[in-house]
Amino acid sequence: MSARYLVRFDDICPTMDWRAWSRLEPVLQAHGVKPIMAVVPDNRDPHLVAGEAVPDFWARVRAWQAQGWTIALHGHQHLYTTREAGLVGINRRSEFAGLPETTQRDKLQQALAVFAREGVRADAWVAPAHAFDAVTLKLLLEAGVDVVSDGFYRRPLRHLGALWVPQQLWRFRPMPAGLWTVCYHCNGFGDAQVERFAGDIERYASRIVSLAEACAAPRIGDHNGLDAAFAAAWRAALRLKRLRAAA
Ligand SMILES: [Zn+2]
Repeated sequence: MSARYLVRFDDICPTMDWRAWSRLEPVLQAHGVKPIMAVVPDNRDPHLVAGEAVPDFWARVRAWQAQGWTIALHGHQHLYTTREAGLVGINRRSEFAGLPETTQRDKLQQALAVFAREGVRADAWVAPAHAFDAVTLKLLLEAGVDVVSDGFYRRPLRHLGALWVPQQLWRFRPMPAGLWTVCYHCNGFGDAQVERFAGDIERYASRIVSLAEACAAPRIGDHNGLDAAFAAAWRAALRLKRLRAAA
């Protein structure tokens, strides 16, 4: 089987870069691509303020969900309060990992209450900075959110009671068989990035699936030693890349 791809946009909130988004959305629509939209329920992170808040934000989110796009819960306020890397283990900053269960429950309940108030279903979980722990996962499962878009695996798998749909890439590139999620942060996207995005979507369109299609595989296996080894190697490669970039 050849490689399949999923597209994900993070940091979706009322003050995101709508100018950039207005150039990206038509590309997705033209190719029938149904991305994962990681929506921050109550953004307080100044880094995610790219302009004025749009008044009809939640109507836009509902419209995406109505056309089969995946709406993921992207944390609560997108504020990092701990130095824990959590289960995925790539960034030492988190809104959840390492916090007491009562605090995490409170944050998740508030986050989900915003979605409920706005008539939006949480189809999946996307942790800010990939950082969440076993407690977060347990609370998500209790709240009925059992799909996680995260993990450096090659395939969707079952782990700790949830269905993990891996996220490993930040731009399209040819990959071997497996499911690869390409994650975008579109704030500040200029001409070059928009053109590259459009070209990549056009080139890869026939191999891009929705989250529902990725989860509909005939058999989704349990997390095993090979998956753990792949994730460890991927994490090490990412760390090396960051070190080189910083040098
Ligand atoms: Zn984020």
